[in-house]
Amino acid sequence: MCIFCKIINKEIPAQVVYEDDDLLSFKDISPKAKNHVLVIPKKHISSLNSLQNEDVSLYGKMLVVGANIAKSLEMENSGYRFIINCGSDAGMEVDHLHLHILGGEKLSGLN
Ligand code: AMP
Ligand code: ZN
Repeated sequence: MCIFCKIINKEIPAQVVYEDDDLLSFKDISPKAKNHVLVIPKKHISSLNSLQNEDVSLYGKMLVVGANIAKSLEMENSGYRFIINCGSDAGMEVDHLHLHILGGEKLSGLN
């Protein structure tokens, strides 16, 4: 089982920010910005390469929930960045689809 599935199953602790039947959001263990939160589907999806038409509403929900989390962290006006890495050239480390939400300070580069 992958590390993020273990977090979903509460086998590994995480600082949960949001949870519903489909999604889990928690603080990144190694934050790259003042605010760095991940949003993951509870269904194990390996990467963007595995996206399926049948799950299109789930992917849309990740964006909506992500934006609401950004607002809850008071980044609505100051701004924030969403990142989804895929594969080694993008530096993907965990093979479970995840949306990074970064902000709370001026962001530089590609992060
Ligand atoms: P990526 O490089 O896009 O695969 O991002 C994986 C992210 O997961 C990195 O930013 C890690 O810091 C983060 N991460 C890895 N393990 C954990 C964990 N146990 N709890 C929270 N975040 C984690
Ligand atoms: Zn997984």
